[in-house]
Parts: sequence; structure tokens; C-alpha cells
Amino acid sequence: MPQYLTPGPSELYFTVPDHIRQALKEGVGSISHRSKAFEGYYAHAVAGVRELLAVPEDYHIVFTSSATEIWERLIQNCVEKESFHLVNGSFSKRFYEFSVELGRKAVKQEASFGEGFDIAKIEVPDTAEMICCTLNETSAGVAMPIEDIYTLSAQHPKALITVDAVSALPYIPVDFTRIDSLFFSVQKGMGLPAGLGVWIFSERCAEKAREIAAKGISIGTYHSIPSLLEKAVKNQTPETPNILNIYLLGKICEDMLRRSVETIRQEMLYKSVTIYQAIQNHPYLTPLVEDERFRSHTVAVAKMQEGKTAKEAIDYLAQHNIIIGSGYGKYKNSQIRIANFPTHSKEIFERVYDLLEVWK
Ligand SMILES: *Cc1c(COP(=O)(O)O)cnc(C)c1O
Repeated sequence: MPQYLTPGPSELYFTVPDHIRQALKEGVGSISHRSKAFEGYYAHAVAGVRELLAVPEDYHIVFTSSATEIWERLIQNCVEKESFHLVNGSFSKRFYEFSVELGRKAVKQEASFGEGFDIAKIEVPDTAEMICCTLNETSAGVAMPIEDIYTLSAQHPKALITVDAVSALPYIPVDFTRIDSLFFSVQKGMGLPAGLGVWIFSERCAEKAREIAAKGISIGTYHSIPSLLEKAVKNQTPETPNILNIYLLGKICEDMLRRSVETIRQEMLYKSVTIYQAIQNHPYLTPLVEDERFRSHTVAVAKMQEGKTAKEAIDYLAQHNIIIGSGYGKYKNSQIRIANFPTHSKEIFERVYDLLEVWK
């Protein structure tokens, strides 16, 4: 069986196959989303996310179909007129475009692909209602230091601070009291099949949504903050959700808590150091992100050197049952991306380094 070191979807967390077997035995694929059994799975998943990520009790946790959906819901529910976006790759750019498409005044500050932001040079308009940050830009392998996000939050107390944390969790610890909203989908660091978004937000976001709705502006149809919260108090969702994934999320949080989130983070840090060493020492590879402060620990991106193509590296590893990611979009054949998520073992990385040694 191949091992997926792709930046998402990625290798499943190693306990997932057992949980899926158990789910089939429990009839998870067939139960009603209005049943007591479902409410139990829902509550378990919410409690698991809350404990794993240290989410304060007064922050809401709801489920959507994906992180992409949450981009749209955030603009609809939390921005009446103007949003501000830090754009340094394809995902943050898409979030910005959603705001434009929804008719808001979207202001962006852009960094080149592979670069981070100099916090002293970030200029947020006073009129921006929401500041959108991406903790880990999966396309470029660029991390935004969480301290920089806290600084922005302190400088702009009126604006809602929102964090796209899709490929950063559970690696980066977040102090939720200093942000208003954070979201992720489950097929990256959490090691689940795709098709579930998790949205965490403060009461401030909920108030804003009610305010916008009261003005007669649409904040979304089946999913809006009020419609999600109305069902969430009953441990339910407005629509028929991805019940299996909600079930699995609860199980996976339990497994990660048992292993301890600190242990997981330490192992990930260790693996990240070795990945960048291997890239740096390799004649055909160089890290895309030059400034170490902005290098992602969860998605390493390397540029191809010496006329080598990404396809050659990817095909070589694939012959040995290891699947790594290509560059994103137009960088498909000039860069490779290697994910470092909780499920990836040190041994699998050692195997990658050994194979890369032989390939050169
Ligand atoms: C993958 C990703 C998304 C989109 O997630 P979907 O599950 O496809 O909606 C958004 N932001 C970042 C940073 C991502 O890596």
C-alpha cells in the first residue's frame, strides 16, 4: 500500500481503518442525523476538538462541508462592507477572491510566492471589519508566526481576526482569546478522509452575523452562523451532514489526546528539522522559503535544481510506494511538497531521505 506524504488529502491517521470498521458495525452510515446516536457522536467530536485545541468554553464549534465553505460563510456572516486579506499563496488568494465575488470591498496585501510578511509593514485599513490570516499557506509552504497574528489582533481590536489553520493543526498551539475565528478541514493534519470543515468562532462573530442579517442582507441559506448555532445547541446540523466523518473526528481527537498533543508536536518538530536538512543537503533540491522564520513545519516545499523536474522525483518515490505532492498550480513541475502530519512516522521520512540519496 502506498504511503501518502501529500499535503492533503494525505495518509489517514493510523487508527482510522479500525474506526471505520467499528463505525460500520454501529450503523453510522445509516443512522438518522436527528437520532440520539448522532447527537452523541456530534457532542463527542465537539468535546474532542475543544480539548485537543484548547478552545475556550465560550467559543462555538460547528461543522460545514469544507474549509472552502467557511471562507464563504465568514464573508457572508462577518463582513458587511470590507475585509482585509494577507495573501501569500493560492489559498489565501482564493479567500480574498470570495470576498470580491460576494461584492465586498476586499483589500489585500500580497507577498511573493514563498515569502512571509514583515509585520511592521502590514497596513490594515481602519474600516476593515475582518482581518484574514493564513497560518500555513499550503501552496507555498509558508507559515505566518502566530505571534504576528496576535500583534495584528492587539493593534486592531475592532476588527474580527480570522485564521485559516487548515494545514497547521494540530501542530501550532493557538490562544483563542486573541483571535475571533479559526477553521480547518480534516483531510490534512487530522488524517481523516476529506469532506468536513470545522469552524470555531467567538460570540463576537455571532453578534456580527445577527447584526448583518437584521439589516436584511443575506448571510447564507442553510448554513449561516444563526442556523448552525440553532442546531448546534441540540448537537445537530441544519442539513444531513457527513455523519461518518463527524464520528471519526471524535475518535481521532481521542486518539491524539491519548498520545498527547505535546508528544505529537515534538515529533513533528523533529521530523520537520530533518526534512529541511535533507532538502538542503540534496543537490537537486533547495527550500523554496528562504527565511527560516516563515518555513512551514507541516508542509515543506522544495524547488527543483540542476534541470531536474518535480515529476522525476515524484515518479521515483512513487515506484517505491511513497507519494509526495507536486508544486501547486503553475509550480507543478518546478517544486515538490512534502507533508509532515501527525500520522507520518519518522521511519517513513528516513525511507524518503534514503531513496532521495539513491536517486541523486
Ligand atoms: C486545503 C486548504 C483549504 C481548502 O480546504 P478544502 O477542504 O478543500 O475546502 C483552505 N485553506 C488552506 C490553507 C488549505 O490548505
